[in-house]
Amino acid sequence: MSNQPTIYIIDVTNRDGVQTSRICLSKLEKTMINLYLNEMGVFQSEFGFPFTHHETNYLNANLELAKKGVISPLRLSGWLRATKEDVKTTFKLVPAIKHMNLSISTSDQMITHKFKGKLDHQSIIKEMTEAVKEAHKLGVESIGVNAEDASRTRMDYLIEFSLAAKEAGADRIRYCDTLGCDTPFSMYERIRALIEAIKMPIEIHCHNDLGLVVANSIAGAKAAVDAGEDAYINTCVNGMGERAGNADLVSVILAIKYGSGMQGYSLDKRIDLKKAWKICKYASYAFSVPIPINQPGVGANAFAHESGIHADGALKDRRNYELYDFEELGRGEPEIIETGRKITAGEYSGIKGFRNVSDKLELVFKDDAEATQILELVRYANVHNQKPLVDDELKFIAKYPDIARKIFTMHP
Ligand SMILES: [Zn+2]
Repeated sequence: MSNQPTIYIIDVTNRDGVQTSRICLSKLEKTMINLYLNEMGVFQSEFGFPFTHHETNYLNANLELAKKGVISPLRLSGWLRATKEDVKTTFKLVPAIKHMNLSISTSDQMITHKFKGKLDHQSIIKEMTEAVKEAHKLGVESIGVNAEDASRTRMDYLIEFSLAAKEAGADRIRYCDTLGCDTPFSMYERIRALIEAIKMPIEIHCHNDLGLVVANSIAGAKAAVDAGEDAYINTCVNGMGERAGNADLVSVILAIKYGSGMQGYSLDKRIDLKKAWKICKYASYAFSVPIPINQPGVGANAFAHESGIHADGALKDRRNYELYDFEELGRGEPEIIETGRKITAGEYSGIKGFRNVSDKLELVFKDDAEATQILELVRYANVHNQKPLVDDELKFIAKYPDIARKIFTMHP
């Protein structure tokens, strides 16, 4: 079945994840997440808010990395409201942007109680289609149109809205279960009905308010494929995201690969789960949010056995009590933690200490002047992150100093 539709991953950690209350990422940390998502073979990263001024340098710097082939083939897409003004501001601030998600609410609840008469059903479609056309005029390559609160939107209107988006030149519709009120049953039914009517690829964006986020995402993707279209599941690393979170990146991949009834559904071939351990550990550190002990795949207990029957069974044959292998997730290497003297590089470091750190990472500088220059950037990076830098961050700064400088720069 070579023409079977595919399930792709669009990760929204750098948008839904960071807009979440109480947690945030620095622009350097967002950049590292993009680099790791790229290594993991994810299709697209929704990398930020292109109309927001403090994002501008970070977004432009990451697009430069894309142009250099450092972040490639991962697509970098911006999120904005579906208005002509936001589209214009986006292209003014981030001219090289090629992919975007244009968002507007579509439910009666939001139209009545959020827009409060400012927009009605027809003017929402007008705003959205004008924004899509403007984005095309300014050189966009792909557009997802986001139906916010799609799960509480009347199906006939959702179809009308989606067909108008398609007609205006959108590539995908994002079905957004904004409140997390869907169940796998409603997801399957609604996505199937929607796609049979609109015949275009769909993005599935779910939230975990009922603890059903991964199940809903899989049910939606299955419905899309059954109806003959590609599905793009929105995920966040470690299930971060508004309120109870978005679909966890690793859980979604595992569910497609190992879930009963999912055999024969094809996941984007580029996905490499071996990078899962690294990106999840990094995101946990960057967000300062520990990985729960029972998190699928990457939690401390995901492959731990203690009770007599389980331990005996797992030792005899791992398949007795393990659904997938820890090696597949990039786990298994012991982690080495220095327990004696340790020199770190930070905002008040000097050149001798930095040389000790950089030698251990096998960073090579052509002379002392270059080492001093990189040290200065490392100081700024630490001011920027407010936590000790990890090896990959130090290596990144040493390799791309001009890009790093841009990422740290803001002009309020
Ligand atoms: Zn969301």
